[in-house]
Amino acid sequence: MDGFQAEIKALELLQRVQFPSHRLSAYPHQLSTGEKQRALIAMAFICDPEVVILDEPLASLDVLSQKKVLYPLLELLQGRAGLLVTHSLATAAQFSNRAAVLYGGTIVEAAPTQKLFSQPRHPYSRGLLRSYADMDRNKDLQGIRGKAEFVEKGCPFHPRCTQSLLVCQEKKPILQKIEDRKIACHRGGVIPLLTVKGLTKIVGSHKIIEGINQTLYEGETLAVIGAGGAGKTTLAKTVMGLIKATEGEIFLEKKGW
Ligand code: SF4
Repeated sequence: MDGFQAEIKALELLQRVQFPSHRLSAYPHQLSTGEKQRALIAMAFICDPEVVILDEPLASLDVLSQKKVLYPLLELLQGRAGLLVTHSLATAAQFSNRAAVLYGGTIVEAAPTQKLFSQPRHPYSRGLLRSYADMDRNKDLQGIRGKAEFVEKGCPFHPRCTQSLLVCQEKKPILQKIEDRKIACHRGGVIPLLTVKGLTKIVGSHKIIEGINQTLYEGETLAVIGAGGAGKTTLAKTVMGLIKATEGEIFLEKKGW
């Protein structure tokens, strides 16, 4: 295109990213960080790319500027493929259809973003989400033990993993498809530790608990809430083996009783 057309196209894109019109002739050093960011985003899209690689597109912006950049960026991304690199879970949640979690240079879990965020299956993905602060007051932050360190062999997460086995220190797990996602873990991700199936306790003609199905995963705390007489203690005692269940099964890891 000629100079005139190029200028029209540049102005159109700058408008779409909400670049202030009175700053059009400013030098880069005269622009704020947010303005520079918007100018760069406009430049990235000027040649109408099919694929855009976005490396921390919102990282240097304050929350208000992030909002101003986010929506135009989402609009510009429509109909294109994007590879977003970020440390921000919020940015990943807003931008992506699929997400891959990287630890120690290895993808440890890859899944549709919603699934990964609502039900992380790899111990590191779960730790990452648990230790991330958000505005949800019900969330109890839990850290990941130890520090990220280089490991020569085995699973890169093994020094910090709470369910690691000997094999994890020796052999690097490969990323493989498990149900609705891909996970690199010798144990198939976070393991179910305690499972109850159809647990029922009947005393006389009274069903104190009936058909309880629950799974408690490794490193998880499950709260059982109910009014007095709802069956909480009977459930706890039955799971502990102090009371014999009338029906149902209990498994600790894979061993049942
Ligand atoms: S269980 Fe083993 S392979 Fe899986 S994340 Fe933990 S250390 Fe890695």
